[in-house]
Amino acid sequence: MQFVKNRKGGDCLLYEGFIYRKHHQRGDKTYWICTKYDGEHCRGRCKSENGVVEVTNGDHNHTVDPSEADVRDRLAKMKSLASTTQELPCEIITKTVENASRSVAASLPSPC
Ligand SMILES: [Zn+2]
Repeated sequence: MQFVKNRKGGDCLLYEGFIYRKHHQRGDKTYWICTKYDGEHCRGRCKSENGVVEVTNGDHNHTVDPSEADVRDRLAKMKSLASTTQELPCEIITKTVENASRSVAASLPSPC
């Protein structure tokens, strides 16, 4: 299973390009809802058990945004650098944006 961090540092599930946030847990099963449930009312859902993901509703009302997971990863990295190093915000942003594709860089803060 592959996870990406949300803005609050929690784990979101990345599966087939869609990003899900944890909805609830029952025993070994974790139920996930699409992060686009809020606002866009996407009905995409899946569940996971022992590391195996099963899509329970693949009816997403949007397409996969390939840059979204990368953006989230980089923002999480930027946040952790900011709290664990003495580097200036400019340096942290520059490091976060380096090697990013153009569409990813567009969603990140601009380097100084
Ligand atoms: Zn969705």
